[in-house]
Amino acid sequence: MNLLKSPNLGTFFLETGQRMRTPAGTECPYFYGNYFRGRKNEECRLIGEQRPPENWTPDLCKTCPVPAITRANACPNMILIGKVERKMLGLSRRVHVTAFCRLVQKEVQEPEIGCGHCHEFPKIVVDKPE
Ligand code: SF4
Repeated sequence: MNLLKSPNLGTFFLETGQRMRTPAGTECPYFYGNYFRGRKNEECRLIGEQRPPENWTPDLCKTCPVPAITRANACPNMILIGKVERKMLGLSRRVHVTAFCRLVQKEVQEPEIGCGHCHEFPKIVVDKPE
């Protein structure tokens, strides 16, 4: 497993580019399922092993933004950090994702787009017409 340790970010999983289909039907580089010989061991390597109620369950994949983020942006310098958040007095749980750029060492505000350091945005995108 590709686990990296950072003093600022803790331990996180570095995606390998291999993608399995989640229980929600989308491909995600952080999902792992072992179905060999009738087994059904599934895990989310972004969330990792957490104690309830912050633990991963397959239903979280339905609303998780990670598959869309990784489809839109494949930057190898961007690290995703995910945790389970509870909303509506704990009745609903969702994956909250923050992105961090290893190169410029700062948070990425829009992970689908990236921070713009490696791949500078064209001037037409930076200077939006009024
Ligand atoms: S919760 Fe999100 S990151 Fe985790 S396996 Fe499901 S889709 Fe992937």
